[in-house]
Amino acid sequence: MSKIARRQFIQLSAVAAAGCMMRPGQEAQAQDMPKVEESDSMAQAMKYTNDASTVAPASRANPAPEQTCANCALVQGEDGADWRPCQIFPGKVVAAKGWCSVWAPKA
Ligand code: SF4
Repeated sequence: MSKIARRQFIQLSAVAAAGCMMRPGQEAQAQDMPKVEESDSMAQAMKYTNDASTVAPASRANPAPEQTCANCALVQGEDGADWRPCQIFPGKVVAAKGWCSVWAPKA
């Protein structure tokens, strides 16, 4: 398995695990949830940042421009909110202007 394929496998496994932890109807209100800290071990593993503009596009595995949490397929909650739940970080919220290496385009 190549280095990139292994990394993507690990990231997708994290997505699947996070999805298993979320139960429909049991979503906490975003305003009551703590924010993901960039210093969290999970955040660091996913290269999460509160400000996507600090990440050079060339360093991303997916070269699509304008990647932020707000336009990621894994973000939850209401459009337009500054902080929103994310399937990768159960029980916490991420910055709408943030980004992590698991970013995926909406279908
Ligand atoms: Fe979650 Fe997507 Fe933001 Fe990563 S880029 S923290 S997966 S919303």
